[in-house]
Amino acid sequence: MDRQYEHIFTGDSDHHGFLSHHSDQRFDSLDQEGVEGRNRKDTRIPGHQGIRMVAMEPLLIGVDVGGTNIRMGVVTPDGHIPKKIEYPMDMSRGGLAMMEGLVSRLQDFIQQETGRDRSEIRIGIGIAGSIDMKRGLLVTSPNLPDLHGFPLQAYLQERISYPIIIENDANAFTLGEGWKGAAKGSRHYCGITLGTGVGGGIVVEGEILHGSEGMGGEVGHMVLNPKGPLCGCGGRGCLEVYASGSGIRRRALEANKKGKGKKILKKGRGDIKKVTSEEVFEAAKEGDRTALKIFNEMGRYLGLGLVNLIHLFNPEKIVIGGKVSKAWDYFIGSTTEVVHQRTMKGQREKVQIVQTECGDDAGILGAAYVALKLE
Ligand SMILES: [Zn+2]
Repeated sequence: MDRQYEHIFTGDSDHHGFLSHHSDQRFDSLDQEGVEGRNRKDTRIPGHQGIRMVAMEPLLIGVDVGGTNIRMGVVTPDGHIPKKIEYPMDMSRGGLAMMEGLVSRLQDFIQQETGRDRSEIRIGIGIAGSIDMKRGLLVTSPNLPDLHGFPLQAYLQERISYPIIIENDANAFTLGEGWKGAAKGSRHYCGITLGTGVGGGIVVEGEILHGSEGMGGEVGHMVLNPKGPLCGCGGRGCLEVYASGSGIRRRALEANKKGKGKKILKKGRGDIKKVTSEEVFEAAKEGDRTALKIFNEMGRYLGLGLVNLIHLFNPEKIVIGGKVSKAWDYFIGSTTEVVHQRTMKGQREKVQIVQTECGDDAGILGAAYVALKLE
């Protein structure tokens, strides 16, 4: 992580102090290095060479392209979201049409919400899938199967004139929680999103782990059972097949075949295939024993996943978000039990397993944070 951002992860609560500190430090370091960068040039007063102004704060747009909805927000450099919108992701005409729609919405949003006097706008986009950060490619995406290998960065940059950076959506979630949420102040932590799939991000020494091609941190595809159910990645028995919304639905279907889960079946008005993971959660709240068992088991597999993360990365915190995490009280008991049983002494005492604090805003915040880091 760039030095000027380190203090974001050290629990600095004085946001306004942070901004002025941030600006000063950035330009001091440019001066020291003698870099004639874009920002330095912009901040000179014409006719007064050598006088430094306080840099214009970038206005950030964070975009979270999820599995079903797209959220975008104006984000201030101190992490507030004065404006945001959310709309359903329309995949009826394929991935490219969805992208065209995203560009058009983004252009409208920028025009309407940011005014005309903003000299510096930066856009961060978090999107589900494997992102080749070096080449700006969407290598694979579970929600955009017809856009595998799509040059997303170049496509967007040709249509929108402001600097754009793309990032994996779970990495964005993780960074959002580190910036403004449950992992604020932590320099070693992991984020996990339990949604339709399972995503993850790993922060080591205050920096997100990207790996050699930018595709690291695929927490959802760690193998827990080599003979387990097929996963969307082509493997078997990944954390995702057990701890995702799809995994919960699959377990509900399996239980139904054995004649179990009466209250779950009722949610689908007699058709088990129509039951969502949220409805399995509702059934658990109503005391359905099968639904309770499904969440208990899901929690145990999640616990195994956390044990692996803890042993590998020795995190201070693991932040869990995503729609399935709303069922927290129904799975976290078995998760922590597995963690305590199986984690090596010395690591388990330290790690805190916590729920998201930013909720649905974490993706917007993290995407904006990545744009803020863009130099
Ligand atoms: Zn997998």
